Amino acid sequence: MEPLRTDVTVVGAGAAGLYAALCAARDGGRVTLVSATPLAESASYWAQGGIAAALAADDAPERHLRDTVSAGRGAVRESAARVLCNEAPEIVRDLAELGVRFDADRRGRLALGLEGGHSARRVVHAGGSATGRRVTRQLSALVAEHPSIEVLEGRRAVGVIIVNGRCSGVLLHDGSRVVSAAVVLATGGAAALWARTTNPSGATGGGLLLAHAAGAALADLELVQFHPTAVAAPNGGDGFLITEAIRGEGALLLDGSGERFVDELAPRDEVARAIAHVMSDTGATSVALDMREVDPARFPNVVVALRQAGIDPERELVPVAPAAHYMMGGIATDLDGRSTVPGLYAVGECACTGLHGANRLASNSLSECFVFGARAARAALREPAIRAGKLGDAQAPPRPPALTPASRQALWEHAGIERDRDGLWLLRDDPHPLVRLIADAALARTESRGAHQRRDFPDLDPAFEGLHVMMESSGRPAFDRWV
Ligand SMILES: Cc1cc2nc3c(=O)[nH]c(=O)nc-3n(C[C@H](O)[C@H](O)[C@H](O)COP(=O)(O)OP(=O)(O)OC[C@H]3O[C@@H](n4cnc5c(N)ncnc54)[C@H](O)[C@@H]3O)c2cc1C
Repeated sequence: MEPLRTDVTVVGAGAAGLYAALCAARDGGRVTLVSATPLAESASYWAQGGIAAALAADDAPERHLRDTVSAGRGAVRESAARVLCNEAPEIVRDLAELGVRFDADRRGRLALGLEGGHSARRVVHAGGSATGRRVTRQLSALVAEHPSIEVLEGRRAVGVIIVNGRCSGVLLHDGSRVVSAAVVLATGGAAALWARTTNPSGATGGGLLLAHAAGAALADLELVQFHPTAVAAPNGGDGFLITEAIRGEGALLLDGSGERFVDELAPRDEVARAIAHVMSDTGATSVALDMREVDPARFPNVVVALRQAGIDPERELVPVAPAAHYMMGGIATDLDGRSTVPGLYAVGECACTGLHGANRLASNSLSECFVFGARAARAALREPAIRAGKLGDAQAPPRPPALTPASRQALWEHAGIERDRDGLWLLRDDPHPLVRLIADAALARTESRGAHQRRDFPDLDPAFEGLHVMMESSGRPAFDRWV
């Protein structure tokens, strides 16, 4: 079969992939966008909180940077966080020009929400808690109409084509090939590897394995964020995320005696750990979120989802418990999304720029998708063209074994909110390769920092400050300090 030839191949149609494809096409590139699943199955579609950007008159990118660095617990790559905070305001303006209708206040100015860890109101929303849905719908409509973007929907990338050490395209599950000077992986995160998760079922880190098989280094796989407030309702709606913005508007967390036990707007790792401790001390399977004083009209899709799960948040307390939510680690990249393999890029949640450190600040990930999606698109267009006839026979790497409920449960038990050597050691025999890589990375970080809490190493070790755990293609962990 003759391969399809294009300038840039983008794999994944969440926020990062859609925006990267649009940016490359706006800059004159021919783009092929490959998406395995329909839109509604991307994590981006479900994003509720919003997009963080220092837009308020009394805010500044430098302040946003301070909050990001402080939440990240000494593991933030400051250069990447600075790029994010400086460029996010312009991205919000660009999205508005592209037709995304952000929520406005009574005077018609952007309404800015407050979320955990932010010292200022700086989170823009579209349709209240329907931000992800609104943004991905608008961007996908633009992508579908764009004459320079070819969309291959329902097609899965199963291998990265490497010729003479350079990435030269992707192999698809049906045996067809897309050849291009650059490939941008935007395949999303891996939090659905854990048994209890807020993520759609496809978010199992397939892109990380593709990149790793092609020789790209992965980084910080031990740093997985647990969201404090996912619904705990075994009869429907379990794992549904209740956005931090609701706590920003005054919702309270209560223990079994109806008492508050944590600052609801502390960074996520602290709140998740506080909830986990209440649960283990009391044997309860959840704590309560009291959102009875919050205006339900501000969060219509949350209210509807809770009602569908049989909970009336205007009258009842909502049972919540932490769930795996966001992979801070991923494919190691520079500030333009370049992986360690020439021509192979990664953006969005599958990438690890190091900007989130050991604890992502709420709503920084959508900003990351757009800021780094745009940068990667520009850099990808500068890659040298592939010469015709150089392709040869490209083989897909062996398919990893299917992810089983047993592997997911094992990750939850042994690499959950708290871990230790004995449990992590058990995961090294798991059939799923990403589970083993996560265990090795978590074993290597013999300290507790942000989302990575070791029972056997409960303290932060200053020697790890600024260090990233790299998993090279050899599979052995190594430490690196990034600038
Ligand atoms: C419930 C929920 C709420 C959230 N709320 C917020 C929020 O308010 N603010 C915020 O900043 N962040 C939020 N996040 C996190 C944020 O939504 C994600 O980090 C971000 O959307 C990830 O976007 P992405 O484009 O990288 O990946 P995704 O949106 O996950 O998209 C990945 C895409 O890649 C495709 N794909 C994967 N593998 C392949 C393959 N091999 N071949 C072809 N296609 C493939 C998938 O089908 C999908 O289209 C939330 C996450 C969740 C789950």
